[in-house]
Amino acid sequence: MLKIYNTLTQKKEVFTPLYEKKVGMYVCGMTVYDFCHIGHARVLIAFDVILRYLTLCGYQVTYVRNITDIDDKIIQRAQENNERLSDLTQRMIKAMHEDFAQLNILPPTQEPRATDAISKMLDLIQVLLDKNYAYVAENGDICYSVEKFKTYGELAHQNLEKLRSGSRVAVDISKKDPLDFVLWKKAKPGEPSWESPWGAGRPGWHIECSAMSMEALGEHFDIHGGGLDLVFPHHQNEIAQSEGATATKFVNTWIHVGFVQTNRQKMSKSLGNFFTVRDVLKQYPAEVIRYFLLASHYRSPIQYSQENLQTAQASLHRLYTSLRGLVNAGPQTFIPERYTGDYLTKFQAAMDDDFNTPEVLAVLFELAREINRLRDNDEKQAQFYAEYLQYLASTLGILQQDPEQFLKLGLSQENRDSEKIQRFIAARNEARASKNWQEADRIRDELLSLGVILEDTSKGTEWRQK
Ligand SMILES: [Zn+2]
Repeated sequence: MLKIYNTLTQKKEVFTPLYEKKVGMYVCGMTVYDFCHIGHARVLIAFDVILRYLTLCGYQVTYVRNITDIDDKIIQRAQENNERLSDLTQRMIKAMHEDFAQLNILPPTQEPRATDAISKMLDLIQVLLDKNYAYVAENGDICYSVEKFKTYGELAHQNLEKLRSGSRVAVDISKKDPLDFVLWKKAKPGEPSWESPWGAGRPGWHIECSAMSMEALGEHFDIHGGGLDLVFPHHQNEIAQSEGATATKFVNTWIHVGFVQTNRQKMSKSLGNFFTVRDVLKQYPAEVIRYFLLASHYRSPIQYSQENLQTAQASLHRLYTSLRGLVNAGPQTFIPERYTGDYLTKFQAAMDDDFNTPEVLAVLFELAREINRLRDNDEKQAQFYAEYLQYLASTLGILQQDPEQFLKLGLSQENRDSEKIQRFIAARNEARASKNWQEADRIRDELLSLGVILEDTSKGTEWRQK
Protein backbone atom coordinates (compact mmCIF):
# COMPACT_ATOMS: atom_id res chain seq x y z
CA MET A 1 0.00 0.00 0.00
CA LEU A 2 1.65 3.22 -1.20
CA LYS A 3 1.90 5.97 1.41
CA ILE A 4 2.86 9.51 0.44
CA TYR A 5 3.72 12.43 2.73
CA ASN A 6 1.22 15.19 2.05
CA THR A 7 2.44 18.74 2.81
CA LEU A 8 -1.17 19.82 3.31
CA THR A 9 -1.87 17.40 6.18
CA GLN A 10 1.77 16.91 7.27
CA LYS A 11 1.14 13.16 7.36
CA LYS A 12 2.00 10.09 5.35
CA GLU A 13 -1.31 9.05 3.80
CA VAL A 14 -2.42 5.97 1.89
CA PHE A 15 -2.51 7.02 -1.74
CA THR A 16 -5.91 6.56 -3.36
CA PRO A 17 -6.31 8.10 -6.80
CA LEU A 18 -9.55 9.86 -7.75
CA TYR A 19 -10.07 7.51 -10.68
CA GLU A 20 -9.15 3.88 -10.38
CA LYS A 21 -5.81 3.09 -12.04
CA LYS A 22 -5.41 6.65 -13.34
CA VAL A 23 -3.27 9.37 -11.79
CA GLY A 24 -3.09 13.06 -12.68
CA MET A 25 0.18 14.68 -11.60
CA TYR A 26 1.28 18.30 -12.12
CA VAL A 27 4.79 19.54 -11.37
CA CYS A 28 5.92 23.16 -11.61
CA GLY A 29 8.61 23.19 -14.25
CA MET A 30 11.36 25.58 -15.21
CA THR A 31 11.36 29.31 -15.71
CA VAL A 32 13.45 29.30 -18.85
CA TYR A 33 15.96 32.18 -18.57
CA ASP A 34 19.09 30.21 -17.67
CA PHE A 35 20.54 26.69 -17.49
CA CYS A 36 19.15 24.20 -14.96
CA HIS A 37 21.17 23.71 -11.80
CA ILE A 38 21.52 20.68 -9.54
CA GLY A 39 18.66 21.87 -7.30
CA HIS A 40 16.26 21.77 -10.29
CA ALA A 41 17.62 18.38 -11.33
CA ARG A 42 16.84 17.02 -7.89
CA VAL A 43 13.17 18.05 -8.06
CA LEU A 44 12.70 16.60 -11.54
CA ILE A 45 14.55 13.36 -10.79
CA ALA A 46 12.44 12.88 -7.63
CA PHE A 47 9.24 13.21 -9.68
CA ASP A 48 10.72 11.04 -12.42
CA VAL A 49 11.12 8.23 -9.88
CA ILE A 50 7.57 8.84 -8.60
CA LEU A 51 6.31 8.63 -12.20
CA ARG A 52 8.24 5.40 -12.82
CA TYR A 53 7.00 3.78 -9.62
CA LEU A 54 3.36 4.75 -10.14
CA THR A 55 3.64 3.31 -13.65
CA LEU A 56 5.19 0.11 -12.27
CA CYS A 57 2.24 -0.13 -9.85
CA GLY A 58 -0.07 -0.23 -12.86
CA TYR A 59 -1.31 3.36 -12.86
CA GLN A 60 -1.76 5.24 -16.08
CA VAL A 61 -0.14 8.56 -15.17
CA THR A 62 -0.88 11.84 -16.93
CA TYR A 63 2.20 13.82 -15.98
CA VAL A 64 2.02 17.52 -16.72
CA ARG A 65 5.08 19.73 -16.28
CA ASN A 66 4.77 23.34 -17.37
CA ILE A 67 7.29 25.74 -18.83
CA THR A 68 7.23 29.34 -17.57
CA ASP A 69 8.26 31.29 -20.65
CA ILE A 70 7.10 34.78 -19.60
CA ASP A 71 8.31 36.33 -16.37
CA ASP A 72 10.25 39.35 -14.99
CA LYS A 73 13.52 37.40 -14.93
CA ILE A 74 13.14 36.32 -18.55
CA ILE A 75 12.35 39.86 -19.69
CA GLN A 76 15.34 41.20 -17.79
CA ARG A 77 17.74 38.54 -19.08
CA ALA A 78 16.63 39.03 -22.69
CA GLN A 79 17.30 42.77 -22.31
CA GLU A 80 20.73 42.14 -20.77
CA ASN A 81 21.63 39.74 -23.58
CA ASN A 82 20.15 42.05 -26.17
CA GLU A 83 18.29 38.98 -27.39
CA ARG A 84 14.69 38.50 -28.48
CA LEU A 85 12.65 37.05 -25.63
CA SER A 86 11.44 34.11 -27.71
CA ASP A 87 15.01 33.37 -28.86
CA LEU A 88 16.16 33.22 -25.24
CA THR A 89 13.31 30.95 -24.13
CA GLN A 90 13.71 28.62 -27.15
CA ARG A 91 17.43 28.33 -26.49
CA MET A 92 16.89 27.55 -22.81
CA ILE A 93 14.10 25.04 -23.49
CA LYS A 94 16.37 23.19 -25.91
CA ALA A 95 19.21 23.16 -23.35
CA MET A 96 16.81 21.97 -20.64
CA HIS A 97 15.61 19.07 -22.79
CA GLU A 98 19.22 18.08 -23.51
CA ASP A 99 20.12 18.14 -19.80
CA PHE A 100 17.05 16.11 -18.83
CA ALA A 101 17.71 13.51 -21.53
CA GLN A 102 21.27 13.09 -20.24
CA LEU A 103 19.97 12.63 -16.71
CA ASN A 104 17.54 9.96 -17.97
CA ILE A 105 14.49 12.01 -16.92
CA LEU A 106 11.46 10.72 -18.83
CA PRO A 107 9.51 13.36 -20.77
CA PRO A 108 6.16 14.41 -19.27
CA THR A 109 2.87 13.51 -20.95
CA GLN A 110 2.20 17.20 -21.56
CA GLU A 111 4.53 20.19 -21.35
CA PRO A 112 2.34 23.30 -21.67
CA ARG A 113 3.91 26.73 -22.04
CA ALA A 114 2.51 29.74 -20.23
CA THR A 115 2.36 31.90 -23.36
CA ASP A 116 0.08 29.31 -25.01
CA ALA A 117 -2.39 29.39 -22.10
CA ILE A 118 -3.14 33.13 -21.82
CA SER A 119 -6.82 32.85 -22.77
CA LYS A 120 -7.42 30.21 -20.11
CA MET A 121 -5.76 32.53 -17.56
CA LEU A 122 -7.97 35.44 -18.64
CA ASP A 123 -11.07 33.29 -18.13
CA LEU A 124 -9.91 32.32 -14.65
CA ILE A 125 -9.13 35.93 -13.67
CA GLN A 126 -12.59 36.99 -14.88
CA VAL A 127 -14.22 34.38 -12.65
CA LEU A 128 -12.14 35.56 -9.68
CA LEU A 129 -13.20 39.16 -10.34
CA ASP A 130 -16.86 38.12 -10.65
CA LYS A 131 -16.67 36.25 -7.35
CA ASN A 132 -14.92 39.16 -5.63
CA TYR A 133 -11.74 37.27 -4.90
CA ALA A 134 -9.89 39.71 -7.12
CA TYR A 135 -9.86 43.49 -7.54
CA VAL A 136 -8.41 46.12 -9.84
CA ALA A 137 -5.58 47.83 -7.93
CA GLU A 138 -4.85 51.56 -8.15
CA ASN A 139 -2.00 50.99 -10.60
CA GLY A 140 -4.22 48.98 -12.96
CA ASP A 141 -2.93 45.50 -11.99
CA ILE A 142 -5.49 42.84 -11.12
CA CYS A 143 -4.75 41.48 -7.64
CA TYR A 144 -6.02 38.58 -5.56
CA SER A 145 -7.37 39.51 -2.15
CA VAL A 146 -6.01 36.84 0.18
CA GLU A 147 -8.25 37.71 3.13
CA LYS A 148 -11.27 36.66 1.02
CA PHE A 149 -9.95 33.10 0.93
CA LYS A 150 -10.72 31.67 4.33
CA THR A 151 -8.08 28.94 4.51
CA TYR A 152 -5.21 31.05 3.14
CA GLY A 153 -1.94 29.93 4.79
CA GLU A 154 -3.14 26.36 5.29
CA LEU A 155 -0.49 24.75 3.06
CA ALA A 156 2.36 26.51 4.89
CA HIS A 157 0.58 25.89 8.22
CA GLN A 158 0.73 29.56 9.11
CA ASN A 159 -1.93 32.19 9.71
CA LEU A 160 -2.22 35.50 7.89
CA GLU A 161 -0.53 37.49 10.69
CA LYS A 162 2.51 35.22 10.69
CA LEU A 163 2.70 35.22 6.92
CA ARG A 164 2.48 39.01 6.80
CA SER A 165 5.31 39.45 9.30
CA GLY A 166 7.46 36.88 7.48
CA SER A 167 6.67 38.16 4.03
CA ARG A 168 9.56 39.70 2.14
CA VAL A 169 7.22 41.27 -0.40
CA ALA A 170 8.13 44.90 -0.96
CA VAL A 171 5.39 47.18 0.34
CA ASP A 172 3.31 48.14 -2.61
CA ILE A 173 0.78 50.84 -1.83
CA SER A 174 -1.47 49.81 -4.71
CA LYS A 175 -2.28 46.49 -2.99
CA LYS A 176 -4.84 46.36 -0.20
CA ASP A 177 -2.78 43.83 1.76
CA PRO A 178 0.97 43.11 1.38
CA LEU A 179 0.11 39.42 0.89
CA ASP A 180 -2.21 40.13 -2.05
CA PHE A 181 -0.64 38.96 -5.28
CA VAL A 182 -0.83 40.00 -8.90
CA LEU A 183 -2.96 38.00 -11.34
CA TRP A 184 -2.53 40.34 -14.28
CA LYS A 185 0.21 42.96 -14.61
CA LYS A 186 -0.57 46.08 -16.56
CA ALA A 187 1.77 46.47 -19.56
CA LYS A 188 4.88 48.58 -19.22
CA PRO A 189 6.37 50.21 -22.32
CA GLY A 190 8.73 47.93 -24.21
CA GLU A 191 7.57 44.74 -22.46
CA PRO A 192 5.72 41.88 -24.13
CA SER A 193 1.97 42.10 -23.54
CA TRP A 194 -1.36 40.53 -24.45
CA GLU A 195 -4.77 42.13 -24.84
CA SER A 196 -7.26 41.61 -22.02
CA PRO A 197 -10.61 43.06 -20.90
CA TRP A 198 -8.57 45.19 -18.45
CA GLY A 199 -6.12 46.49 -21.00
CA ALA A 200 -2.83 45.18 -22.33
CA GLY A 201 -0.69 43.27 -19.85
CA ARG A 202 0.79 39.95 -18.92
CA PRO A 203 -0.06 37.22 -16.42
CA GLY A 204 1.39 36.87 -12.93
CA TRP A 205 3.33 33.65 -12.31
CA HIS A 206 0.84 31.92 -9.98
CA ILE A 207 -2.19 32.13 -12.28
CA GLU A 208 -0.29 30.20 -14.97
CA CYS A 209 -0.13 27.02 -12.98
CA SER A 210 -3.78 27.14 -11.87
CA ALA A 211 -4.83 27.61 -15.50
CA MET A 212 -2.53 25.01 -17.05
CA SER A 213 -3.00 22.31 -14.40
CA MET A 214 -6.82 22.52 -14.44
CA GLU A 215 -6.86 22.66 -18.24
CA ALA A 216 -4.88 19.42 -18.45
CA LEU A 217 -6.11 17.51 -15.41
CA GLY A 218 -9.48 18.98 -14.44
CA GLU A 219 -10.54 21.09 -11.46
CA HIS A 220 -9.65 18.38 -8.95
CA PHE A 221 -6.68 16.07 -9.40
CA ASP A 222 -4.35 13.74 -7.51
CA ILE A 223 -0.81 15.05 -7.14
CA HIS A 224 0.78 18.47 -7.38
CA GLY A 225 4.35 19.23 -6.48
CA GLY A 226 7.63 20.99 -6.90
CA GLY A 227 10.55 22.22 -4.84
CA LEU A 228 10.09 23.03 -1.16
CA ASP A 229 10.43 26.76 -1.92
CA LEU A 230 7.14 26.64 -3.82
CA VAL A 231 4.99 25.76 -0.80
CA PHE A 232 4.58 29.44 -0.03
CA PRO A 233 3.52 31.57 -1.72
CA HIS A 234 3.29 29.83 -5.11
CA HIS A 235 1.32 26.71 -4.26
CA GLN A 236 -0.77 28.43 -1.62
CA ASN A 237 -1.70 31.02 -4.25
CA GLU A 238 -2.59 28.31 -6.73
CA ILE A 239 -4.96 26.80 -4.15
CA ALA A 240 -6.52 30.21 -3.48
CA GLN A 241 -7.03 30.89 -7.18
CA SER A 242 -8.29 27.46 -8.17
CA GLU A 243 -10.54 26.78 -5.20
CA GLY A 244 -11.74 30.40 -5.21
CA ALA A 245 -12.82 30.00 -8.83
CA THR A 246 -14.26 26.47 -8.73
CA ALA A 247 -15.41 26.07 -5.09
CA THR A 248 -14.00 22.54 -5.42
CA LYS A 249 -11.02 20.92 -3.75
CA PHE A 250 -8.04 21.49 -6.06
CA VAL A 251 -5.42 18.85 -5.21
CA ASN A 252 -5.39 15.78 -2.96
CA THR A 253 -1.68 15.23 -2.37
CA TRP A 254 0.98 17.95 -2.26
CA ILE A 255 4.55 16.67 -2.65
CA HIS A 256 7.59 18.88 -2.05
CA VAL A 257 11.23 18.06 -2.66
CA GLY A 258 13.96 19.29 -0.26
CA PHE A 259 16.81 21.62 -1.13
CA VAL A 260 20.26 20.88 -2.42
CA GLN A 261 22.62 22.86 -0.21
CA THR A 262 26.13 24.13 -0.70
CA ASN A 263 27.91 24.88 2.56
CA ARG A 264 24.58 24.41 4.37
CA GLN A 265 22.83 27.08 2.28
CA LYS A 266 20.11 26.43 -0.26
CA MET A 267 21.51 26.25 -3.80
CA SER A 268 19.79 28.97 -5.78
CA LYS A 269 20.20 31.28 -8.70
CA SER A 270 19.63 34.33 -6.53
CA LEU A 271 22.35 33.38 -4.01
CA GLY A 272 24.80 32.64 -6.83
CA ASN A 273 25.98 29.41 -5.13
CA PHE A 274 24.65 27.08 -7.79
CA PHE A 275 26.22 24.47 -10.06
CA THR A 276 24.59 23.93 -13.41
CA VAL A 277 23.83 20.42 -14.62
CA ARG A 278 26.12 21.15 -17.59
CA ASP A 279 29.07 22.03 -15.39
CA VAL A 280 28.73 18.97 -13.20
CA LEU A 281 28.33 16.76 -16.29
CA LYS A 282 31.82 17.82 -17.32
CA GLN A 283 33.15 16.18 -14.15
CA TYR A 284 30.88 13.18 -13.59
CA PRO A 285 28.77 10.82 -15.69
CA ALA A 286 25.06 11.73 -15.61
CA GLU A 287 24.22 8.54 -13.77
CA VAL A 288 26.50 9.54 -10.88
CA ILE A 289 24.54 12.79 -10.47
CA ARG A 290 21.32 10.81 -10.49
CA TYR A 291 22.62 8.35 -7.92
CA PHE A 292 23.91 11.17 -5.69
CA LEU A 293 20.46 12.82 -5.74
CA LEU A 294 18.61 9.57 -5.00
CA ALA A 295 20.93 8.46 -2.20
CA SER A 296 19.00 10.73 0.20
CA HIS A 297 15.26 10.72 0.78
CA TYR A 298 13.57 13.30 -1.46
CA ARG A 299 12.34 15.40 1.46
CA SER A 300 15.67 15.72 3.30
CA PRO A 301 18.25 18.36 2.45
CA ILE A 302 21.28 17.15 0.46
CA GLN A 303 24.79 18.56 0.71
CA TYR A 304 26.37 19.18 -2.66
CA SER A 305 30.07 18.35 -2.38
CA GLN A 306 32.80 16.66 -4.39
CA GLU A 307 33.10 14.13 -1.60
CA ASN A 308 29.42 13.14 -1.86
CA LEU A 309 29.59 12.90 -5.64
CA GLN A 310 32.68 10.71 -5.39
CA THR A 311 30.93 8.47 -2.87
CA ALA A 312 28.04 8.14 -5.34
CA GLN A 313 30.46 7.25 -8.11
CA ALA A 314 32.15 4.60 -5.97
CA SER A 315 28.76 3.10 -5.03
CA LEU A 316 27.69 2.92 -8.67
CA HIS A 317 30.99 1.29 -9.56
CA ARG A 318 30.35 -1.39 -6.94
CA LEU A 319 26.87 -2.08 -8.30
CA TYR A 320 28.03 -2.16 -11.92
CA THR A 321 30.97 -4.39 -10.98
CA SER A 322 28.51 -6.97 -9.65
CA LEU A 323 26.66 -6.89 -12.99
CA ARG A 324 29.80 -7.24 -15.03
CA GLY A 325 29.88 -10.18 -17.42
CA LEU A 326 26.28 -11.11 -16.52
CA VAL A 327 24.09 -8.51 -18.26
CA ASN A 328 24.28 -6.04 -21.11
CA ALA A 329 22.54 -2.68 -21.43
CA GLY A 330 18.93 -2.21 -20.38
CA PRO A 331 16.45 -4.77 -19.05
CA GLN A 332 16.07 -6.88 -22.20
CA THR A 333 14.17 -9.75 -20.67
CA PHE A 334 11.47 -7.68 -19.05
CA ILE A 335 9.39 -10.33 -17.34
CA PRO A 336 8.47 -8.88 -13.93
CA GLU A 337 6.53 -12.06 -13.03
CA ARG A 338 9.83 -13.86 -12.76
CA TYR A 339 10.97 -11.57 -10.00
CA THR A 340 9.30 -12.39 -6.74
CA GLY A 341 10.25 -13.13 -3.17
CA ASP A 342 12.23 -11.28 -0.58
CA TYR A 343 13.98 -8.66 -2.68
CA LEU A 344 10.80 -7.56 -4.44
CA THR A 345 8.93 -7.37 -1.13
CA LYS A 346 11.68 -5.25 0.42
CA PHE A 347 11.88 -3.04 -2.67
CA GLN A 348 8.12 -2.45 -2.66
CA ALA A 349 8.04 -1.81 1.08
CA ALA A 350 10.74 0.86 0.65
CA MET A 351 9.02 2.55 -2.32
CA ASP A 352 5.61 2.34 -0.64
CA ASP A 353 7.07 4.19 2.33
CA ASP A 354 6.95 7.63 0.71
CA PHE A 355 9.40 6.66 -2.07
CA ASN A 356 12.27 5.80 0.24
CA THR A 357 15.07 5.59 -2.34
CA PRO A 358 17.99 5.21 0.15
CA GLU A 359 16.23 2.09 1.44
CA VAL A 360 15.80 0.85 -2.14
CA LEU A 361 19.52 1.32 -2.75
CA ALA A 362 20.21 -0.81 0.34
CA VAL A 363 18.12 -3.59 -1.24
CA LEU A 364 20.08 -3.23 -4.49
CA PHE A 365 23.33 -3.63 -2.57
CA GLU A 366 21.99 -6.76 -0.88
CA LEU A 367 21.30 -8.18 -4.32
CA ALA A 368 24.77 -7.17 -5.53
CA ARG A 369 26.37 -9.02 -2.61
CA GLU A 370 24.32 -12.10 -3.43
CA ILE A 371 25.45 -11.92 -7.07
CA ASN A 372 29.09 -11.63 -6.02
CA ARG A 373 28.69 -14.62 -3.70
CA LEU A 374 27.10 -16.76 -6.44
CA ARG A 375 29.23 -15.60 -9.35
CA ASP A 376 31.91 -18.27 -9.12
CA ASN A 377 29.69 -21.20 -8.11
CA ASP A 378 26.35 -20.78 -9.85
CA GLU A 379 26.58 -18.50 -12.83
CA LYS A 380 23.01 -19.14 -13.93
CA GLN A 381 21.60 -18.02 -10.62
CA ALA A 382 24.03 -15.08 -10.53
CA GLN A 383 22.78 -14.01 -13.94
CA PHE A 384 19.18 -14.27 -12.81
CA TYR A 385 19.90 -12.01 -9.84
CA ALA A 386 21.83 -9.60 -12.06
CA GLU A 387 18.76 -9.20 -14.29
CA TYR A 388 16.62 -8.86 -11.18
CA LEU A 389 18.93 -6.10 -9.90
CA GLN A 390 18.72 -4.28 -13.22
CA TYR A 391 14.95 -4.61 -13.24
CA LEU A 392 14.51 -3.10 -9.75
CA ALA A 393 17.06 -0.36 -10.51
CA SER A 394 15.11 0.72 -13.60
CA THR A 395 12.57 2.38 -11.28
CA LEU A 396 15.39 4.63 -10.07
CA GLY A 397 16.57 5.08 -13.66
CA ILE A 398 20.02 3.65 -12.89
CA LEU A 399 22.08 0.56 -13.85
CA GLN A 400 20.63 0.42 -17.36
CA GLN A 401 23.92 0.84 -19.21
CA ASP A 402 26.29 -1.87 -20.33
CA PRO A 403 28.47 -2.44 -17.21
CA GLU A 404 31.63 -2.73 -19.29
CA GLN A 405 30.99 0.66 -20.82
CA PHE A 406 30.00 2.38 -17.60
CA LEU A 407 33.05 1.14 -15.73
CA LYS A 408 35.32 2.67 -18.36
CA LEU A 409 33.37 5.89 -19.01
CA GLY A 410 35.70 8.34 -17.29
CA LEU A 411 38.80 7.28 -19.21
CA SER A 412 40.15 9.22 -22.14
CA GLN A 413 39.74 7.58 -25.54
CA GLU A 414 43.44 6.78 -25.63
CA ASN A 415 43.51 5.11 -22.21
CA ARG A 416 40.32 3.21 -22.92
CA ASP A 417 42.14 1.33 -25.68
CA SER A 418 41.39 -2.21 -24.68
CA GLU A 419 44.22 -3.80 -26.69
CA LYS A 420 46.79 -1.59 -25.05
CA ILE A 421 45.49 -2.46 -21.58
CA GLN A 422 45.37 -6.13 -22.47
CA ARG A 423 49.07 -5.93 -23.41
CA PHE A 424 49.80 -4.44 -19.99
CA ILE A 425 47.80 -7.19 -18.31
CA ALA A 426 49.61 -9.91 -20.29
CA ALA A 427 52.99 -8.45 -19.35
CA ARG A 428 51.96 -8.33 -15.71
CA ASN A 429 50.79 -11.94 -15.84
CA GLU A 430 54.14 -12.95 -17.28
CA ALA A 431 55.94 -11.10 -14.50
CA ARG A 432 53.75 -12.74 -11.91
CA ALA A 433 54.32 -16.19 -13.42
CA SER A 434 58.06 -15.70 -13.10
CA LYS A 435 57.52 -14.36 -9.56
CA ASN A 436 58.85 -10.94 -10.54
CA TRP A 437 56.51 -9.15 -8.11
CA GLN A 438 58.32 -5.87 -8.42
CA GLU A 439 57.68 -5.71 -12.17
CA ALA A 440 54.07 -6.87 -11.70
CA ASP A 441 53.47 -4.06 -9.20
CA ARG A 442 55.18 -1.54 -11.45
CA ILE A 443 52.78 -2.38 -14.30
CA ARG A 444 49.78 -2.16 -11.98
CA ASP A 445 50.96 1.28 -10.79
CA GLU A 446 51.58 2.48 -14.31
CA LEU A 447 48.02 1.57 -15.29
CA LEU A 448 46.73 3.24 -12.15
CA SER A 449 48.47 6.44 -13.18
CA LEU A 450 46.49 6.23 -16.45
CA GLY A 451 43.28 5.90 -14.41
CA VAL A 452 42.87 2.14 -14.84
CA ILE A 453 42.29 -0.22 -11.91
CA LEU A 454 42.98 -3.93 -12.27
CA GLU A 455 40.86 -6.52 -10.51
CA ASP A 456 42.02 -10.12 -10.28
CA THR A 457 39.09 -12.54 -10.40
CA SER A 458 38.80 -16.30 -10.68
CA LYS A 459 38.34 -15.81 -14.44
CA GLY A 460 41.41 -13.67 -14.92
CA THR A 461 42.20 -9.99 -14.65
CA GLU A 462 39.53 -7.38 -15.42
CA TRP A 463 39.88 -3.64 -15.46
CA ARG A 464 37.83 -0.51 -14.88
CA GLN A 465 38.36 3.19 -14.55
CA LYS A 466 39.60 4.56 -11.25
ZN1 LIG B 1 3.68 26.35 -10.61
